[in-house]
Amino acid sequence: MKTVAWKFEKEIPVIFDVDVAVLGGGPGGLGAAVMSAKAGAKTLLIERYSMLGGMASVGEVSPFMPNHYKDGSSFDRPVYTRWVQQMNSYLPEEIRSKIPAGDNAENGLTRTIGKEIAALAAEDLCIEAGVKLLYHHKLCGASVKKGKIDFIVLDSKSGFVAVRAKNFVDCSGDADLAAVSGCEFELGDAEGHCQPMTLCFKLSHVRRELMPNWEAFQKLYKDGQQSGALSCPRENVLYFAHHDEDVIHFNTTRVQGKSAVDGIELSDAEVEARKQLREYIIWLRASVPGFEQAQLHSMGAHIGVRETRRVKGLAYLTREDFVKRSKFPDAISRCNYPIDIHCPTPGKSGTELVHMESSEYYEIPYGCVVAKDISNLTIGGRPISVDHAIHSSMRVMPPACTVGQAAGLAAALSSQRNCSPAKLDGCEVRKKLVEMGAYL
Ligand SMILES: Cc1cc2nc3c(=O)[nH]c(=O)nc-3n(C[C@H](O)[C@H](O)[C@H](O)COP(=O)(O)OP(=O)(O)OC[C@H]3O[C@@H](n4cnc5c(N)ncnc54)[C@H](O)[C@@H]3O)c2cc1C
Repeated sequence: MKTVAWKFEKEIPVIFDVDVAVLGGGPGGLGAAVMSAKAGAKTLLIERYSMLGGMASVGEVSPFMPNHYKDGSSFDRPVYTRWVQQMNSYLPEEIRSKIPAGDNAENGLTRTIGKEIAALAAEDLCIEAGVKLLYHHKLCGASVKKGKIDFIVLDSKSGFVAVRAKNFVDCSGDADLAAVSGCEFELGDAEGHCQPMTLCFKLSHVRRELMPNWEAFQKLYKDGQQSGALSCPRENVLYFAHHDEDVIHFNTTRVQGKSAVDGIELSDAEVEARKQLREYIIWLRASVPGFEQAQLHSMGAHIGVRETRRVKGLAYLTREDFVKRSKFPDAISRCNYPIDIHCPTPGKSGTELVHMESSEYYEIPYGCVVAKDISNLTIGGRPISVDHAIHSSMRVMPPACTVGQAAGLAAALSSQRNCSPAKLDGCEVRKKLVEMGAYL
């Protein structure tokens, strides 16, 4: 590709100078910002879009997966469970009782929650905790001095602006801040292929009572693929009931072989996924009972991104730790969600699922959220220091939020003590998390 030189040197305003700046308002950023503010740090949450929730809102990822101990206790206290509780408060009691909330995930007939509710409830939590929210600001650079981020540069309607913080937490999902700051990271599987992207969507005006059962639906899907009506390479059609009786949520388009941290490929992925979406609507109306009058209810404003960069931290967790159910004295999160790898290899299909019993879990140690190359940076949400397999397990929203809360607390403690997160005792971070309501 041809290149041009562009030297940009200009005075830009420092719009905030805070203790902790969290980049990204998805589940990880929510956990980080709320915990940091609750620990007493002056906290800024920066988000490129107009709302919080990340994949749960702009990505239209409405099903919230379980991550529970056998007695029903959520591993994801306190921020995630509070988020679920707040989401439920937006729904009438009759519907609320059907949706799993934190500690009683087994009682639900459905566990999908609409994106607007996810965004509103996340904002409620931030306001409640005293987090300053900064929407419509996108990270585009960082000034690093002696291995420490001095300030970050954001692109906004006012042009380029700077934010200073004692500590930064990268919860951008893609580890954008770690990448522009020069951190070492991994991408995808051994061949560098990331899990496929999926544009989620919902259809309304569905008559559920007429819908085929799961097996019959899959048979119709195979017929649809064989007839050429559907070009989606997924091995099955994945759908979930929604709290609105006539709405079905689809998490089923599949775009392989494109990188979500390559601008052009990300754009192409949106086009390819929407082509699949159009085919799905036509096929469902024509071929699947109950969908004759179906209408497009909503779709992600951003294609769903499962996997991109994973930042190298002070600790590194691998598939072996999943197999051994590893435990650590400085654990900051527990997880028993399966290894869940949607086939990353272009031209191949399938999903690898490796479950564990609900009486089992593995733990994530503190070092997985501490970036090894930058002294005032912690990582929350999906890009923490783990391998491709562990990432596929901990990336779901409850643990993503919980590792975020540890990264946020560590940033707050570091700013209060004028030290690097690497200098904190992980066991003390764990103790403090427990005092603040974590399940560890
Ligand atoms: C298709 C799909 C289906 C899924 N299904 C489920 C499911 O059923 N259940 C479940 O629990 N999980 C599911 N997941 C996983 C889950 O949604 C994500 O892994 C989780 O949201 C990760 O949280 P996060 O905070 O790390 O990242 P994200 O949710 O991606 O949030 C990152 C945030 O950072 C912001 N951001 C990014 N870059 C910048 C920047 N440069 N400047 C400013 N802001 C920025 C984004 O706008 C976003 O708000 C699914 C994911 C996908 C893609």
